[in-house]
Amino acid sequence: MLVIHKYGGTSMGSIERIKSVAKRVAKWHAAGHKVIVVPSAMSGETNRLLGLAKEISADADPRELDQIASTGEQVSVGLLAIALQSLGVKSKSYTGWQTGIKTNNAFTKARIESIDGDKLLADVNNGIVPIVTGFQGVDSEGNITTLGRGGSDTQAVAVAAAVKADECLIYTDVDAIYTTDPRVEPDARPLKVISFEEMFELASLGSKVLQIRSVEFAGKYKVPVRVLSSFTEPDIAIAVEAKSGTLITFEEDEQMEQAVVSGIAFNRDEAKVTLRGVPDSPGIAYKIVEPIAAANVDIDMIVQNVGEKGTTDFSFTVHRNEFKKAMEVLEKQVKPALGAKEVVGDDKVCKVSIVGIGMRSHVGIAAKMFKALADENINIQMITTSEIKTSVLVDDKYMELAVRALHRAFELDKVGA
Ligand code: ASP
Ligand code: MG
Repeated sequence: MLVIHKYGGTSMGSIERIKSVAKRVAKWHAAGHKVIVVPSAMSGETNRLLGLAKEISADADPRELDQIASTGEQVSVGLLAIALQSLGVKSKSYTGWQTGIKTNNAFTKARIESIDGDKLLADVNNGIVPIVTGFQGVDSEGNITTLGRGGSDTQAVAVAAAVKADECLIYTDVDAIYTTDPRVEPDARPLKVISFEEMFELASLGSKVLQIRSVEFAGKYKVPVRVLSSFTEPDIAIAVEAKSGTLITFEEDEQMEQAVVSGIAFNRDEAKVTLRGVPDSPGIAYKIVEPIAAANVDIDMIVQNVGEKGTTDFSFTVHRNEFKKAMEVLEKQVKPALGAKEVVGDDKVCKVSIVGIGMRSHVGIAAKMFKALADENINIQMITTSEIKTSVLVDDKYMELAVRALHRAFELDKVGA
């Protein structure tokens, strides 16, 4: 098999751990597999590096931030190459630009445009284990760019796509994708498989295990991705290890557990703003949302009430960090322009979502969700749905309770529920 191994910051967190990563890679290599490794910076390192820049300036040039942050991974790949060499494995480290990882020039959040897999393939065909820095590439002018925090996942999936790897193994500090975060619901259960669509929803609705763009990339290029633990004994049998964790699959086959709801995601980064008493006439939604977009604020959920006596209320949610900005735009621009009554907001809200492809073929899922919340006396402030998810906005203080109530209602603690 040709596989990518991606190791997160915690897995690379110390020299001891880097040696353990090397042992694992060496084991796969010795078993005859072709392995390309994409590690993150040692844990805490990216924060430390960006912190140094912050000590000089709060709004540093993003080009320089990328120049600085990219070095964390450069250290990682060099150390890992040495660790592999000391185990007698031929290995060579590369930065993103050395392997032809081309991105656009959106510093600190660049998107990969192309990867030249030839050099890496030539290496693996010569028995060499290439190690590529996570989270970075080069723009058309030769500037180093980074892919945004958590971007090593995306880099690994992109490399897997470029070399047409059989699987991209994301080794991390959790041993699987769970039905929900086990820190919130101790009865959360690891999933053996999850469909790509469900994983995409979970990642965009708040699950932090994989960077959302890595899932997007996996979908676009049909890369099978497996999330598994880097903390098992490195000498665990390959046959066992290769089937461990959670496989994100494109085939909705018998392998899938036939659950209606597969997982519950939550997101605390929400804030709600409401414009009260706006005239209920054509073009109003546009006139509210347009200035918000112009201020570069992303809108998530939207609710417009049924009009009464010619006016209506309009609410939407934004990222909590942009709450103040959104309130200001509404207060200073939109309210006077539309003659609205008042602007109110609440940044102590969170979004809880149920996700499952089974929702396509089952009715009554939303009703079951709302009943479970009602039974706990949790008020629902907003609702959005799509084909395979239903999300509700609730008071922040009920988040854990809501997640646990829903986990129980949909019997996610039971295998094959
Ligand atoms: N080191 C980078 C970060 O901490 C990229 C990554 O680990 O995925 O965001
Ligand atoms: Mg990560």
